[in-house]
Amino acid sequence: MVELTFLGTGTSNGIPVIGCACAVCRSADPRDRRGRTSAVVRFDGHTVLIDAATELRLQALAVGLDRVDAVLFTHAHADHTGGFDDLRRFNELAAAHLPVYAGADTAAMLRDRFAYAFEDLFPFYGGKPDLTLHEVDGPFELFGQGVVPIPVTHGRATVLGFRFGDLAYVTDAKTIPESSMELLRALDVLVLNALRERQHPTHLSLSEAVTVIDQLRPREAYLVHLSHELGHEQATALLPVNARVAYDGLTVSTLR
Ligand SMILES: [Zn+2]
Ligand SMILES: [Zn+2]
Ligand SMILES: [Zn+2]
Repeated sequence: MVELTFLGTGTSNGIPVIGCACAVCRSADPRDRRGRTSAVVRFDGHTVLIDAATELRLQALAVGLDRVDAVLFTHAHADHTGGFDDLRRFNELAAAHLPVYAGADTAAMLRDRFAYAFEDLFPFYGGKPDLTLHEVDGPFELFGQGVVPIPVTHGRATVLGFRFGDLAYVTDAKTIPESSMELLRALDVLVLNALRERQHPTHLSLSEAVTVIDQLRPREAYLVHLSHELGHEQATALLPVNARVAYDGLTVSTLR
């Protein structure tokens, strides 16, 4: 069984947006408060973090996350990497290096942006993240679980989704190439991004996400990376029966 907890489900501004008085930003529904998109996936007693979102520390505290055994990065945009420095706490908790997986472009950007963590390596004592960076160029194994990278297009960036058995996590997609659609067949749980009802040049809109869900027919789909143009209830009403809007703190799992 694979279990996933949504740490954050909002787009890059987070919700509420600073200085915004719209209905969603003022909503009393706790599901309308969204940190930047990230998640943890658990299988066979291991915990894998997907992205280090801006609010990583607050997200970890909110769900009681007290261990991370590996980190997968989807891409290097600021909302998915802003919590990078807080990874060092998981080094301290494990008293070990933390393996990190990313596509080659993303790995290069991480090395550049967070050079202090990769240069002048010194014996571990907790002052900075202590990471072993692995470049992903195809399916790999993590603690005995096969992980299939799913390349998707997001403006000029290629983002990696990840499939663990019958669960797949895809964020920040605008288009999903046919070869990647083939990797998303017969899913129990599909996590997919949907920004808002209006079109956007680099993110799936709600109706575009629903089209993908209709093509893939997972048992259940969960939408993430919402903007403040989509309230939880409003977006839920627009979805087919097998699709739901995720919210921060929600846990979902595969049947087997
Ligand atoms: Zn707003
Ligand atoms: Zn992005
Ligand atoms: Zn993003």
